[in-house]
Amino acid sequence: MSMGAKTTKTTVAVTRTADPFSPELVTKAVDEALRLVPGWRGKAAAAERIVVKPNLTADNVGWETGVVTSTLVMDAVLGALRAANPRAELTVAEATAVGLDTKKAFARVGLAETAARHRARLADLNDDEHLPVSIPGGAILKKVYIARTVLEADFLVDVPVLKTHAGVGITVAMKNLKGTMPAREKKRFHNTGLIDCIVDLNRVVKPALVVADGTVALEGDGPVGGTPVNFGVIVAGTHTAAVDLVAGRLMGFAPDEIDALRRALELGQGVPEEDIAVVGESVAAVARPFKRAVFPFEHPDNVCIVDGKACTGCREGLRIAIDRAKAQEVLALLPRVGFFIGPGAKVGPEDAAHPERNVIIGKCLKDAANKGQGRWVPGCPPQIFLITDEMREMAGKDRLFGRKKDFIVEDDDDH
Ligand code: SF4
Repeated sequence: MSMGAKTTKTTVAVTRTADPFSPELVTKAVDEALRLVPGWRGKAAAAERIVVKPNLTADNVGWETGVVTSTLVMDAVLGALRAANPRAELTVAEATAVGLDTKKAFARVGLAETAARHRARLADLNDDEHLPVSIPGGAILKKVYIARTVLEADFLVDVPVLKTHAGVGITVAMKNLKGTMPAREKKRFHNTGLIDCIVDLNRVVKPALVVADGTVALEGDGPVGGTPVNFGVIVAGTHTAAVDLVAGRLMGFAPDEIDALRRALELGQGVPEEDIAVVGESVAAVARPFKRAVFPFEHPDNVCIVDGKACTGCREGLRIAIDRAKAQEVLALLPRVGFFIGPGAKVGPEDAAHPERNVIIGKCLKDAANKGQGRWVPGCPPQIFLITDEMREMAGKDRLFGRKKDFIVEDDDDH
C-alpha cells in the first residue's frame, strides 16, 4: 500500500445493557450503538419510506424466549428512526415462517401498541404484492421475488435476533432477510440450496442499517427450539455480513464456521474481518461461547442412521426431527426406520428391499429417492418439520404441516 493510502473499514458497534428487560437500559444500549454507527442518520432523515424488518419467526412465543426480536429493542429502534425523521412513513414489515400467521406474531409480542407510539404501521408481507428482482451475477439464483413494501423503501432496517441455528450455524442479519419474500420463495430456497440463496438475496436486498438484538439471544437448538440467553448485547452496522461476522464472534463462532459468511466472502459479498472496525465494547470483553447443536446423539434402537458426510443442516435437522417425533409419541410406533443423509449415503441391498421404512433426506440424495429406495424429504437443508411429518405419516398419523408436495418448489426458468 502506498504511503498515505487509507483503507475504509466497515464499522460495527457493540453495546451492552445490564438488564434486557429494562426499557430504559435497552433504549440506552440501542441509542449508544446507533450513535457509534456513522452515516445512517442523514439517509434516514431524507427518506420518505422507512421499513423496519424484525425477526418474528414464530407466532406463539414472546420475545423473552430469544426466538423473536425483543419488543423493547423494536421500541428503541422505532424511537430513534422517528427522532431522525418525524415525517417519514414508518412501517414494521414481516412475513413469518411458512404456515404461521404474521398478524398473530405481531399481537403475541405487542408490536401494535409499540408501532402506534411511533406512528408506524404494521405490514404482513404475506399479504403484499411480490415483484421479481433480477440478481446479476447470482451464485445460484437469477431472480427472486420480494415484497413491494420492501422494494419501495428508501431506508430498510434489519432488526434480527442473535440465535444459533441447527442448519446454518447462526442466524442474524443475513438470514433475517428471508422474511421479505413470499412463502413460495422460502420453500424454493430450501430446495435449491439455502446458503447460496441467502448470499444471493443479500446482493439485492440491502438494509441501510442493521440493529441486531442480542439482549435475549438463543443458544442450542435454534432457531426456535433453543435456550434463551440473557446476553444484553446490541450489534449495529450498515452491512449485514459484517454484523453477522461480529455477532458470530460474540457467540463463539469463527467466520469460517458460518457457511453463509464463508460463501459471502468467497463470492465477494462479505467483509473480511480485518476490514471491520469494532467500536464500543470489544469482542473479547463481551464474547460468550454459545451452546451449539450436537451430533451424534442418543437415539432409540429402532432408528438407524447412514451418514454419508452430511452437512450440519441435515445432521442437526435430523436430530431435532427425531426428538420431536419422540415427543409426539410417533417414533415408538415404528418398528424400524432408517435415515439416509449426506451425498455419500448408500442404501444397501437389505434396506433397499424395504423402501417403506427408509427416509432419504435432502437434495443431494434425490437420485436414491428417484430409484424408489425410500421416502424422500426434499430440501438443502430440508425443513425439520418435513422430516418429522414423514415419520408421522409412516406411523399412520396425520401430517401436521400439510402435503409434502406443496413444499417441493424447484428452481425453474422463470427464476
Ligand atoms: S441435502 Fe446434502 S448438500 Fe444439502 S445440506 Fe443436506 S447433506 Fe448438505
